[in-house]
Amino acid sequence: MQFLIDYLEQVKVNNLYRQTVVYDPVDAAHVIQNGQTYLMLASNNYLGLTHEPHVQQAAMEAIRRYGTGSGGARLTTGTYPLFDQLEQALAMFKGTEAALVFNTGYMANLGVISSLAGPDDIIFSDELNHASIIDGCRLSRAQVLVYRHNDMGHLEKLLKTTGCRGKRLIVTDGVFSMDGDIAPLDVIVKLAERYDSLVVVDDAHATGVIGPGGKGTAAYFGIQDKVQVQIGTLSKALGAEGGFVAGSRLLIEAIRNKARSFIFSTALAPAVIAAAQAALQFVAANPDRIEKLRDNAQYVRNLLTARQIPVVSGETPIIPIMVGAANDALRLTAELKEQGLVIAAIRPPTVPAGTSRLRLTVTARHEQEELREAAGKIAAAVGKLKTTER
Ligand code: PMP
Repeated sequence: MQFLIDYLEQVKVNNLYRQTVVYDPVDAAHVIQNGQTYLMLASNNYLGLTHEPHVQQAAMEAIRRYGTGSGGARLTTGTYPLFDQLEQALAMFKGTEAALVFNTGYMANLGVISSLAGPDDIIFSDELNHASIIDGCRLSRAQVLVYRHNDMGHLEKLLKTTGCRGKRLIVTDGVFSMDGDIAPLDVIVKLAERYDSLVVVDDAHATGVIGPGGKGTAAYFGIQDKVQVQIGTLSKALGAEGGFVAGSRLLIEAIRNKARSFIFSTALAPAVIAAAQAALQFVAANPDRIEKLRDNAQYVRNLLTARQIPVVSGETPIIPIMVGAANDALRLTAELKEQGLVIAAIRPPTVPAGTSRLRLTVTARHEQEELREAAGKIAAAVGKLKTTER
């Protein structure tokens, strides 16, 4: 086991050591740790639906009616009635013929990408795509060509100059998880048409967040009918657990038969499926919750930008503040934690070396008063770091 000791030492030397930290949630925007209450600015619970009474009630009723676990894989005995309802609701939400639920967004990316591409195919993948997309590409054994982040000129050059015996797929995050920017899906779709490729978008951070009704990136650009494969997660804005793929009946039928991460894992628990369905109903009935999320994100972005804080520009609730060195990012989060704020430090290998950052996420359940106070603390801490560096 010496190799593991060596590995951990190396990780620590590089300031990349990670631990799980216990947070006890009070509500969607606050947590307790060691008796102290903190403002949570690091979760993906964008709409605060984990603590929405309608959603909680649905989960509790599902436990009473169906039990605590599913007891089987989806293709054996695990498909209880709530699955049909949720998959129909997801297809309606996404404007597609059908949808299929996976146990996580991670497993959806693995299963969908490895079902659609094989060794004769090429996948064109944005350099900042999520780890689960990267792993899905690897699992497919297709040739993978990485294009520079959101660089449509580079993507077109690669499409123009590389042919293959099989199919071509373009895969992108809809909203990028670490930069919070939106993929130019309208341009990607045009390129895909020109170069005969299939488009796969991962809307993990876009579902319930961007586009009319929070319907995601394709809806944001008004091109739902042109994106053949829309992946998403139930675990972020929808406040539950699980992932899904939405598309044509043919696509869903094929993936149901082919995706190993769908086939060989026990189906999600009833409480989770009921919560996701109630969350979708809530989102449809309460568009003001998404408006509030957008207002809060813009509010914080404006406050930080006005104080010359190096915020990566954008319009989503993922607000990255560029720091550079991993240890500076760690120092800042520790200092802000002492001031009552939980903010994530994002370091390599999640992001490229030298681009460590604070990643602030805003939810619809934050009060503007507490956001203003937090922005003031963040601006002071980041400003102090910049001054010390000079
Ligand atoms: N895609 C992206 C872009 C993500 O950020 C994440 C989660 N961090 C996932 C997929 C995986 O989703 P899940 O957490 O539901 O497995």
